[in-house]
Amino acid sequence: PAAAAAAAALAAAVSLSAPARRRRAQAEAAGGGDKEAVRAYFNSTGFERWRKIYGSATDGVNRVQLDIREGHARTVAATLSMLRDSPVPLAGATVCDAGGGTGSLAIPLASQGASVLASDISAALVSEAQRQAAAEAMAATDTFRMPRFEVRDLESLDGKYDIVVCLDVLIHYPREEAKQMIRHLASLAEKRVLISFAPRTLYFDFLKRVGELFPGPSKATRAYLHSERDIEDALRDAGWRVANRGFISTQFYFAKLFEAVPIAAASQ
Ligand code: SAH
Repeated sequence: PAAAAAAAALAAAVSLSAPARRRRAQAEAAGGGDKEAVRAYFNSTGFERWRKIYGSATDGVNRVQLDIREGHARTVAATLSMLRDSPVPLAGATVCDAGGGTGSLAIPLASQGASVLASDISAALVSEAQRQAAAEAMAATDTFRMPRFEVRDLESLDGKYDIVVCLDVLIHYPREEAKQMIRHLASLAEKRVLISFAPRTLYFDFLKRVGELFPGPSKATRAYLHSERDIEDALRDAGWRVANRGFISTQFYFAKLFEAVPIAAASQ
């Protein structure tokens, strides 16, 4: 019966023209919701792909991947600079890096003396982050504090942190799930929330549609763009307002970066 239902779902999907519907039905037929698909992806082909993109080696890295590496590095740099400019001192601050990947942000934060929890849904990425942090610790300065690494999905994070950061994760989640995640992340933060996401505008929507007409082998997960409005609304629901904004773009990489502060203590 499960196989028959899957076949029926696929048959129904094939007759749909909207790519989003078709992909959703395919995921359902495969027995997984988005999150399972994302986890499986980042433990397999996604792991190889992103370890390469976020790494520093150039062998076997194509032009598009190098461009994305550059864009992502700028997002990390912009995040670090917002945090350094804020009145919340990084040394000694508790930071939750939600969906931290290979540790691109967690490791420099740790070098500045922040006490970092870096978690990710992918066990493969978490062990890669651990490996990189251990290498960094060898060459480390006095201020380096080994981050705590955990394999956890973002929804199961708890506790309180001075700063919660979530970079380039929301692209894997549809609108409502993304808003829910933001509300959850904001509930864990006391002083700052920093979030980056691929912006939904008419132009990017158009590019994405065009991309969907030509699915390549590397397009293993769905990509969701978000409107600034949605992200701001979710933050506001949780009692936060956007105090600082950044926009990072290269040829193939686009991200908005928001720094939010508690509404109740907006003058901090
Ligand atoms: N924030 C990192 C990695 C971005 S790539 C950086 O900017 O360098 C997106 C990451 O989100 C991947 O590492 C993926 O495994 C993680 N991820 C996706 N969904 C998640 C979820 N529900 N909970 C935790 N991590 C998640």
